[in-house]
Amino acid sequence: MKRTFSKLNFQNTVKNFCTLNKYQKDWVKDGDFLSNTQQYYDHAANFIKNKAYLKTIKEPKVSIKFSFGVMMDNGTEEIFEAYRVQHSHHVLPTKGGTRFADNINLSETEALGTLMTFKLSVHEIPFGGAKGGVKLNPSKYSQQELDRITRRYTVEMCKRNTIGPGLDVPGPDLGTNSRTMNIMKDTYQTFYGNGELNVSAVTTGKTISQGGIDGRTESTGLGVYFGIKEALNNPDLCNRIKVSKGIEGKKFVVQGFGNVGYYASKFLHENGAILIGVSEYNSSCFNENGINPDELLEHKNSKKTLQGFGKAKTWSFDEKDPFEVMYCKNDILIPAAVECSINKNNMHKFQTSIIGEAANGPTTFIADSYLSSKGVCFLPDLVLNAGGVTVSYFEWLKNLEHKGMGVLSKNWDTKQLRNLYNILSNQQNKYDEKTCNSLKGGSEKELVHSALEGIMSETVKKVVNDSLINNESIRVSSYKRAIQNVQQTYLDVGYSI
Ligand code: NAD
Repeated sequence: MKRTFSKLNFQNTVKNFCTLNKYQKDWVKDGDFLSNTQQYYDHAANFIKNKAYLKTIKEPKVSIKFSFGVMMDNGTEEIFEAYRVQHSHHVLPTKGGTRFADNINLSETEALGTLMTFKLSVHEIPFGGAKGGVKLNPSKYSQQELDRITRRYTVEMCKRNTIGPGLDVPGPDLGTNSRTMNIMKDTYQTFYGNGELNVSAVTTGKTISQGGIDGRTESTGLGVYFGIKEALNNPDLCNRIKVSKGIEGKKFVVQGFGNVGYYASKFLHENGAILIGVSEYNSSCFNENGINPDELLEHKNSKKTLQGFGKAKTWSFDEKDPFEVMYCKNDILIPAAVECSINKNNMHKFQTSIIGEAANGPTTFIADSYLSSKGVCFLPDLVLNAGGVTVSYFEWLKNLEHKGMGVLSKNWDTKQLRNLYNILSNQQNKYDEKTCNSLKGGSEKELVHSALEGIMSETVKKVVNDSLINNESIRVSSYKRAIQNVQQTYLDVGYSI
């Protein structure tokens, strides 16, 4: 059963993630994702004076591959290969997504788990990094089959003690969604729910009825916007990379118009940036004067391609490599699809000032070195695409606190704001009832967005400043900060954790 891609319901969409297309088959991968991630680590670690624990910090602590059988709807038996990686135990629980895709393997899962540790650490979110998944193409299975596979995967994790609100907390990733997270939580609850108050904190990305949080769906794209905005607010960085300050009027191009690509485009567009090009796996579009992301999404949802979108020049997959639109001149390039898409094979073709890495691992180490030497500024994945895991952290906290954000304070905040308005406006004889009634305490979504902005902006501010002071790339500054935060916990308690 194939499910459709709805604008309003990204949360419940099984993502149809695709691998490299026929034009991209000759991309020479400069090593795999794991070796690239480890090269970034080694490069940054070189600049850290205290070498204590650096070998330990790099290695994944638990990497398991297991298999299990599930009965299909037609009564046949199928065996699935599955993985869970816990990269770092410096704090617990570990946290990371669950990927259902037919091209995953243990090495990719280790790369994603490693990246997750440093993503969490640079933003000072107290989890170790993890990742997991099942090797399958979700579009080939019925919902009932996917539910059974998810339950069995969770049972196998319970048996191995690799899941629990204080142990290891999975979230959704490519090929999984809020239903997957609901089912995993429900399965865990069946085993450990009796008298256990915190069971709903065992997964994140759930629907609201199961303990999910409002604002998770758009969080990664929104975080990408907050991160780019903060970087472009720094006049010294703008001087260094020779762009004008601020988002307004900046021309940007996106690769991958899925959840992250669409929401990043939407928030950038709403704040004055101009979307000029989009590349999808099967098509692309371009309009120098700007594209409305909502109109484009509506077209993509109904036609399953960007081709034929009336308000831009479009190309089908057969006419032209959709990726070519990425090589046009622009201010900000946002890869939001596949890993290693900026590599030594195509690195000479990019004409951009800023690469905002919304995808995980979109740039190989060699391409990063080359483009950085040409003055391109990378806002690296570990900093820029952390919006999703940040809001997952809020969901975990909500589950442990057993109340939604703002539930106890909203009415009090509303009263305080209106009292203050009454006093001030009456003093100046300017009282207006409509304005007064519009003042209110924050809803869960407003509080989530605001807290996300705070975390993204603060981290970007720190790593940009480090990078300017030390005259190093923002990626190096980010990895250094992330590694040193992990190192500090080892320095404080040694190997005992
Ligand atoms: P998604 O499946 O919603 O969107 C991916 C989009 O990329 C799809 O529209 C797909 O058709 C397109 N695509 C696939 N292959 C392509 C190719 N070769 N060229 C151009 N387009 C291609 O997935 P998503 O959730 O938006 O995730 C995108 C990236 O962001 C992934 O790297 C993911 O790991 C990363 N990420 C996602 C989140 C999140 O919260 N969703 C968080 C952090 C990082």
